[in-house]
Amino acid sequence: KPVIVLFRHDLRLGDNRALSTASDSGKPVIPVFLLDERVSGNSRPTGGARRWWLHHSLTALDFSLQALGAPLVLKRGRTEEVVSTLINETGADMVVWNRRYDPPGAKIDEALQAQLPHQAIASKSFEGHILHEPSALKTGSGGPYRVYTPFWRALNSMPDPRDPLPPPRALKRWPHGPTSDKLDDWVLLPKHPDWSKGFAEVWVPGEHGALDRLHTFLDDKIRDYPEDRDRPDIEATSRLSPHLAHGEITPFQIWHATKIPMHDGERAGASKFRQEIGWREFSYYLLCNNPKLGSENYNTAFDVFPWENRPDQLSAWKHGKTGYPIVDAGMRQLWQTGWMHNRVRMIVASFLIKHLLIDWRSGEGWFWDTLVDADAANNAASWQWVAGSGADAAPYFRIFNPVLQGEKFDPKGDYVREFVPELAALPDKYLHQPWTAPEDTLKKAKVDLGKTYPEPIVDHQRARKQALAAFEKTR
Ligand code: FAD
Repeated sequence: KPVIVLFRHDLRLGDNRALSTASDSGKPVIPVFLLDERVSGNSRPTGGARRWWLHHSLTALDFSLQALGAPLVLKRGRTEEVVSTLINETGADMVVWNRRYDPPGAKIDEALQAQLPHQAIASKSFEGHILHEPSALKTGSGGPYRVYTPFWRALNSMPDPRDPLPPPRALKRWPHGPTSDKLDDWVLLPKHPDWSKGFAEVWVPGEHGALDRLHTFLDDKIRDYPEDRDRPDIEATSRLSPHLAHGEITPFQIWHATKIPMHDGERAGASKFRQEIGWREFSYYLLCNNPKLGSENYNTAFDVFPWENRPDQLSAWKHGKTGYPIVDAGMRQLWQTGWMHNRVRMIVASFLIKHLLIDWRSGEGWFWDTLVDADAANNAASWQWVAGSGADAAPYFRIFNPVLQGEKFDPKGDYVREFVPELAALPDKYLHQPWTAPEDTLKKAKVDLGKTYPEPIVDHQRARKQALAAFEKTR
């Protein structure tokens, strides 16, 4: 009798405990990718950019599975029903999967786990997505951590995460079906408009793309990571986030790859990098302990915050037309590549929340739809962190000045010139504040403010005062 392996957020062969367990059982293996897009409770459909990624990642996964002998079966629908039908069709007597930690996904899996014994089917689930189960980390008084530093200390005092597993060498094929959906029928790729053209220039979805990114990062970038990671004009970070979001690589693989003996100059980089993986762990920890992290203020004092309804300004923000070059460059990088540098994510989020007084949930929703790495935990926790409404958050009254941030982190303007080409000919001095350039300088650079590039949609000093006044209401 065959064993069914469910794939969801774990589109890889390496370090895949569910797949390795199925392979080690000696039984025929039926690998199934199950797309369960039911929208209930706090869940929502996969965003547009992730759908693009999913299409290509599934293609890559199927290719790798075929090479091992067992092609991928695609199924869409309610998990419990699809699995029941598969069991009836194939006579499988075991179902295995890697656990999910987003609350709607975890709930579906719990229901499945409860249903299978009634059908006399064995089931087993495994970790793989985060280093430690959230329930394993508690404060001295038994409650959940709310602050990153003690959480990180506690995580480091846990036994070292397990070693990653190699991919299985071969899989025994089940020769009698089941039939698979056709990937193209799922229509995951955007059509009207097809805004994904730039994605393929930057990304190689799939496990091989993920391992390449990791090794390039370890070989070429880890040494300078602590110093350069805040610079959007330098490709200094790993860009592993979409691969992690789709489970094409695991935190176990990353953790151990940064623990191997390194040159002196690389150790600081490896340690800083692990701390960032620690932030991801913290986001999942917060989400598991607060399932509504993506929709409700963690700090309920923010429930009375006087958010403004400003559709025109929200639209200008989304389209990279705020008149603040670093904000616009970030929003256009997001649209063109499906990704944005972390420092710039903080700047654009702060701008939306504090300069425009638009509810953080509007920004979180836009990121959800446009990021190839959109992640239920990281996105929600990070937006709340910037808003000041989250756990261990940046204080609300710390308001980024977009001009100073641009000048500090994009000092030569390379980042702005790449994504806001209509300003490219401006001298560095005016690049982050074109409205201060003299008329003849603007003319020479072919910049006509209000026509070729917008005037700032809000005045920084006035917006700052308004934000501080609004913040008073939450105190
Ligand atoms: P690296 O610097 O190479 O870091 C390695 C990994 O560590 C990342 O891939 C990521 O998994 C994790 N990591 C790094 N920084 C953070 C952080 N601040 N918080 C949590 N984990 C981190 N990240 C997402 O993966 N998905 C999201 O939807 C997401 N939304 C965000 C929204 C806002 C408003 C902000 C400010 C940040 C958001 N982040 C999100 C966190 C961070 O910006 C990205 O993880 C990072 O930019 C990814 O690039 P990288 O892989 O090159 O990072």
